[in-house]
Amino acid sequence: MRFKEPLIATAGQFVMVWVPGVDEFPMSVSYTGDRCGITYQIIGEGTKALAYKKPGEKIGLRGPYGKGFSIRGKKLLFVGGGVGMAPLAPLVEMAAAKGASVDLVLGAKTRGDLLFESRSAVAGARVHLSTDDGSIGFKGLATELAQIVVGKQSYDCMYACGPEKMLAKLLTIATEKGIPMQASLERIIKCGIGICDSCAIDGKHVCRDGPVFSEGDLRRFTELGKSKLDAAGRKIPI
Ligand SMILES: Cc1cc2nc3c(=O)[nH]c(=O)nc-3n(C[C@H](O)[C@H](O)[C@H](O)COP(=O)(O)OP(=O)(O)OC[C@H]3O[C@@H](n4cnc5c(N)ncnc54)[C@H](O)[C@@H]3O)c2cc1C
Repeated sequence: MRFKEPLIATAGQFVMVWVPGVDEFPMSVSYTGDRCGITYQIIGEGTKALAYKKPGEKIGLRGPYGKGFSIRGKKLLFVGGGVGMAPLAPLVEMAAAKGASVDLVLGAKTRGDLLFESRSAVAGARVHLSTDDGSIGFKGLATELAQIVVGKQSYDCMYACGPEKMLAKLLTIATEKGIPMQASLERIIKCGIGICDSCAIDGKHVCRDGPVFSEGDLRRFTELGKSKLDAAGRKIPI
């Protein structure tokens, strides 16, 4: 969904999207600059109502919020799982435009769920596809393909967004290989500005201290890939 309004944001930052009368929820900025945009998967009531909106109808956006990714080094590996590609796509473009060598492991359940394959290739990334059902590319998990890719060359930094179990596995791979890592985490975000505590993870707020965290914080998070708070603040397994 693209907007006429400009939004100056760093890749990895998010906006709170208000669908009047329905809900307000966080979405990564997937297009920055003059015609900013978000890319969403229809999950429940909020995203369904968003999908029914027609051009010219009003929704609210506040932000950008949080800490985004920062480009470190020249040989970069990106791993995007499903709609987790949304914050990575503008970063891939920015890194490639700066002359970095970019490898992207792009994973999804099936071929039809792969996001921003051509956008990333046009930007200059070498795209390695994986699908759980093998409908295109490597058959298996993005983490399995990432393990193969990191075995072939060295990287200055790994960037990841996707299911938290994927992020936890990638952290293990990055640690084994000594690759610095930045990953964007997902928690229930209500206020977006570090007040309500609903996005707390091991004493940090995903909305204000994240959503992008570096390997030091990621290693300290005992909840990573294991548990999170639900909308009522109860701890639930991931
Ligand atoms: C920093 C961040 C960036 C995100 N970026 C994207 C994106 O670019 N594209 C995308 O498709 N999704 C993104 N999400 C997830 C997205 O916010 C949820 O999928 C969305 O809120 C679902 O709302 P719903 O009303 O459709 O579903 P619901 O039925 O209300 O919820 C379904 C599930 O979505 C999650 N969710 C619901 N409300 C929230 C909330 N306020 N905050 C976080 N998670 C919630 C919960 O896990 C919940 O169980 C992002 C989440 C975070 C934290």
